Amino acid sequence: MIRGKRLFSRLLPSIVIAVAMALAACDRAKQISEVAAQTSTTATEESKSPKLSLPPDSGPRPAFDSHRSMQYVKEIVAFGPRPVGSANHKKVETYLGAHLKGDEVENDVFIADTPEGKFPVHNVIAKFPGTKDGIIVVASHYDTNYPLRNTSYIGANDGASSSALLLELANQLRGKKREGYSVWLVWDDAEEAMKPDTELPFLDDSLYGIRHVAEKWEADGTLKKIKAFILADMIGDADLNVDRDSNSTPWLEDVVYEAATRLGYQSHFFARTLPGVSDDHIPFVKRGVPSADLIDFDYGYNDVFWHTTQDTVDKLSPKSLEIVGRTILETISILDKMNPLPPR
Ligand SMILES: [Zn+2]
Repeated sequence: MIRGKRLFSRLLPSIVIAVAMALAACDRAKQISEVAAQTSTTATEESKSPKLSLPPDSGPRPAFDSHRSMQYVKEIVAFGPRPVGSANHKKVETYLGAHLKGDEVENDVFIADTPEGKFPVHNVIAKFPGTKDGIIVVASHYDTNYPLRNTSYIGANDGASSSALLLELANQLRGKKREGYSVWLVWDDAEEAMKPDTELPFLDDSLYGIRHVAEKWEADGTLKKIKAFILADMIGDADLNVDRDSNSTPWLEDVVYEAATRLGYQSHFFARTLPGVSDDHIPFVKRGVPSADLIDFDYGYNDVFWHTTQDTVDKLSPKSLEIVGRTILETISILDKMNPLPPR
């Protein structure tokens, strides 16, 4: 999660809150509201989700190995702080590559120009083909916060949990014939803001990796094929409460909620709505791709563990990884069978 400053008050009521309420906190908030304003269908009509044609609740339930995914979290944080440009970051790149050996993997590597200088950025994309024309993307960032690079900050929840979850999703997708859309898993890089207190507009100093992916896919035509962009961020918290986000696409969040309900997990989802979360989904939201940010932005009372050295594995639970992992797989399964999907 990228924001350097808190933009909204805690404990918002569980109703949709106008994005404008995020205003006035600071200049950063304005950046967020501008993004929200550009995405008016999601920002101003969030309660007007189209009537969905959902498939019947049938078929096998998705599997997910919660303990194996927690083991991945532990292995990733064992590398230590993993900011862009660091030796530890390189080790995680190698680690991800080793776990995806034999899969169809695209490495999207480029140099990002940031307020802290030029840095190599390395997105990892694993592609699991399906029989239907179209792609569902599931993403997580794997870098840790750059401004905290000289501390013991290891981002167990912020970065490692969702990246480990995606590795387990890869295990579940591998070697099976997909009767549905292709699923592409994206471990995106350089998500965290490099210098949160500069004058540079906030969204120009964060999301370096995923912005590059979105631009590339727009240029080569891939973007048109993407049916849904699902983001996982900070989903390992033992006290799991995934927030609804008013920048996300309402109908896609409704499908996520339906998936969670079918699995009996609905009490962990969408009890409150956050106004305009700024996260890796924004470059896709801006381009009209249905997007859902699955984020639990209540990590310890008043979010006290977020972007601190207390973001450690002991705060997490394998059960939370399982809840979000299975819900994402069930969401994909519902999307595979929805005919038609709502128009963009
Ligand atoms: Zn973060």
